[in-house]
Amino acid sequence: SAPEKNQKRILLKLSGEALMGAESFGIDPSILDRIADEVKQLVEEDVQVGIVIGGGNLFRGEKLAAAGMNRVAGDHMGMLATVMNSLAMQDALERVRVGTRVMSAISLTGVCEDYDRRFALRFMKNKQVVIFTAGTGNPFFTTDTAACLRGIEIDADVILKATKVDGVYSADPKIYPDAVKYDHLTYNEALEKELGIMDLTAFCLARDHKKNIRVFNMQKPGALIKAVLDESEGTLISC
Ligand code: UDP
Repeated sequence: SAPEKNQKRILLKLSGEALMGAESFGIDPSILDRIADEVKQLVEEDVQVGIVIGGGNLFRGEKLAAAGMNRVAGDHMGMLATVMNSLAMQDALERVRVGTRVMSAISLTGVCEDYDRRFALRFMKNKQVVIFTAGTGNPFFTTDTAACLRGIEIDADVILKATKVDGVYSADPKIYPDAVKYDHLTYNEALEKELGIMDLTAFCLARDHKKNIRVFNMQKPGALIKAVLDESEGTLISC
């Protein structure tokens, strides 16, 4: 049976763009190293860490389809892009000596392991980071949905959604300087205000399973640690 839970367990969602840094495409290795350092600190604090990484820095099915490609083919490319990002993150984590497993929703023999919830829980309990890759394995979904799905499956205490701003605001703070930041929102408030925190499939999945979401600024050094240990960073979305 699944190991009993006696520690904090998180699901961190990183968008592909979070790995891009100042570049306009691809991966900035210095960003990966900084994220790896912060994740390492969490593991040292006995936090069980699962990660879902997006692929938007490389390919998005929707964008490829808009340029004429078949949507399913584009989504397969998008999911494979998440695998590339995950392998880069695994490499950065292992270079700072954090044991890391990449578990894929699509079989990629010789590259990474297949997703298995029971194994994932066991690895996390043994201080290994698990990167859940290839999204949900299905086209027409997003990695935000994958993050909520895996977060629910592994019974994470919180889904941490990494962004470039300090939390959820009443309007885009980069355009409207007097926008106000929310410390806490209910799922229904977030839906009514149409704050666009995640796509609706992802968001409603989290709501239906009462899975807390915390939106925080991954670009701010130390914010991830505070978000997890002090539960004080960013915006919490819950019941
Ligand atoms: N994708 C998919 N199914 C999934 C997750 C992702 O088809 O379950 C594809 C989709 O084409 C998406 C791309 O992978 O555009 C990259 O994921 P996403 O856009 O969520 O990445 P992010 O915006 O977080 O970088």
